[in-house]
Amino acid sequence: MQVRIDLHTHSRVSDGTDSPTELIQAAKAAELDVVAITDHDTAASWDEAAAAATEAGIELVRGMEISTDYVGHSVHLLAYLPDRTHPPLVAELARILAGRDGRLPLMLTRLARLGIEVSLEDVAAVSGDAAASGRPHLADALVAKGYVRSRDEAFNRYLGAGKPANVSRYAAPLEPMIRTVAAAGGVTVIAHPWGRSGHEQPDEAAISALVDAGLSGLEVDHQDHSPEVREKLRVIARNLDLVVTGSSDYHGTGKVGHHLGVNTTAPAEYERLLERAAAAAAASGRATPEVVR
Ligand code: AMP
Ligand code: ZN
Ligand code: FE
Ligand code: FE
Repeated sequence: MQVRIDLHTHSRVSDGTDSPTELIQAAKAAELDVVAITDHDTAASWDEAAAAATEAGIELVRGMEISTDYVGHSVHLLAYLPDRTHPPLVAELARILAGRDGRLPLMLTRLARLGIEVSLEDVAAVSGDAAASGRPHLADALVAKGYVRSRDEAFNRYLGAGKPANVSRYAAPLEPMIRTVAAAGGVTVIAHPWGRSGHEQPDEAAISALVDAGLSGLEVDHQDHSPEVREKLRVIARNLDLVVTGSSDYHGTGKVGHHLGVNTTAPAEYERLLERAAAAAAASGRATPEVVR
């Protein structure tokens, strides 16, 4: 019997389209044995997901995907099993969420200049119970108002990097954030390290320095990585003794080609990640969440 493990998924608490309960039920239906919930910059989905996982009989890892900055490059950092009450972590997440909310009016102004009329209320109507309104919610509002047909089109025409309504926002410096998660008793994995951006940064030397700061793994198997990129990252992970993960980055209907289990993590790698999490938890002295079994 093959154990299926997916360590990167989003619910409606960030920019997915399933509630945490629906996400867990979908994971069960996709015949996953282990799933991690990793909403952007928030642990607000954890409690509902944990209750649903117990109910469904699926193993749940509580995590989050933190928006960080590495010398001007956006890096998404997966953090698993940190104490979500660790004050420096709480403070940084609040700052990131505030940054996302704060730039929304600026993006609406840019769109208005292009003759596109979307209001804060229009965005609130689609973002519902999300912890903050990100570009995907603005994209949904553009779809709802008939300006574009899909999130992809909204990013390609208006919201993506270099597009007319794109406004940057605060992201936490990467290396300090790795240390903050470690101090909170959690472990970190760089999400889709070389996805989307098209550049191979951070490179092996930079990743090596991040390992010294406490980095535990690389998400090698991700839809944004070509087979060649995956192979290069696998070599780096081997050289630096990093855990290799593979995940879907599921967003419900919010992202095409990212269905649950499309990439999975090898059971031996998952065990190594949990060992490092246990060591980080012990070293931190903080009360960290257990894996829900
Ligand atoms: P934000 O966090 O508000 O800057 O928005 C970034 C998020 O938008 C990313 O984390 C992705 O989940 C999502 N995203 C980026 N590009 C696209 C795209 N082309 N289509 C749909 N979602 C996207
Ligand atoms: Zn997302
Ligand atoms: Fe990401
Ligand atoms: Fe993600």
